[in-house]
Amino acid sequence: MTDRYAVLGHPIGHSKSPLIHSLFARATGQDIAYTAIEAPLDGFADTVRRFRAEGGRGVNVSLPFKLQAFQMATESGERARLAGAANCLKFDGERILADNFDGVGLVNDLQRNLACPLAGKRVLLLGAGGATRGALLPIAAERPALLAVANRTPDKAHALRHDFAAHTPLQTGGYETLTGQAFDVVINATSTGLSQDALPLPDGLFAPGALAYEMVYGKGLTPFLRQAQAAGVSRVADGVGMLVEQAAEAFLWWRGVRPDTRAVLEQLTVPLV
Ligand code: NAP
Repeated sequence: MTDRYAVLGHPIGHSKSPLIHSLFARATGQDIAYTAIEAPLDGFADTVRRFRAEGGRGVNVSLPFKLQAFQMATESGERARLAGAANCLKFDGERILADNFDGVGLVNDLQRNLACPLAGKRVLLLGAGGATRGALLPIAAERPALLAVANRTPDKAHALRHDFAAHTPLQTGGYETLTGQAFDVVINATSTGLSQDALPLPDGLFAPGALAYEMVYGKGLTPFLRQAQAAGVSRVADGVGMLVEQAAEAFLWWRGVRPDTRAVLEQLTVPLV
């Protein structure tokens, strides 16, 4: 019997998850059907309940429902608990299990696909929203020399330092506090890749040979990536690999089979020009 999965979001029309999971299913011989469902803004939990009642086995969760997904789970992994957000649910009888694969997807993309090991590196995350929250634990596990978070609203960055204190030291502050510092890996985890706003990045932020990573994908060269290139950075990437790698982790969690991500990534990658 075909097992059913879905991605839930609002809006959801843009989602590449159905394509990614159907390619994974074909490559691994798994019998699944995967659809995109636009849940009403005030109806996420009801939409999940209906999908479960109809035999759904699990869902990926997109914006703006990741916090609600975490809250409706009966059991959560540590990554989801620390993020306070889930991007994946698995249904097992009465149990609703939650996890968050965004951060591990990012780390896998950086280290495996982009050949950028994080151990000993100075890593900077721009933004202090859900994406940064999900990324901190997996990045810290790779033992960077320094892990810093800068945000437009500094108090949100400081709150992360407090919440993650038992797991990793964090340098936190507003953008002005970055003056005089250089980083080997700079990750834009703000939503400015969608709004096309530029960030107030100080001169000298990118160390020689640095990688500039934009979490938003499919938008070509965003203002952040253009800023990086203008500062002399030649290694730039967007978040399509993070998307594919988090999907692979979800697929493994649901199906017990790890799909090969290379062919899917090649199919989805759009040149950054
Ligand atoms: P979020 O929780 O809404 O956080 C948004 C962040 O962006 C906040 O830190 C916010 O700062 C900052 N921001 C927004 N507009 C800004 C501006 N004009 N100037 C400076 N900072 C600004 O969003 P999220 O869930 O963390 O997601 C962030 C981005 O990552 C989204 O665009 C999403 O598409 C992308 N993402 C990609 C993947 C992937 O698989 N590739 C996965 C997850 C997320 P304040 O706190 O000051 O408001």
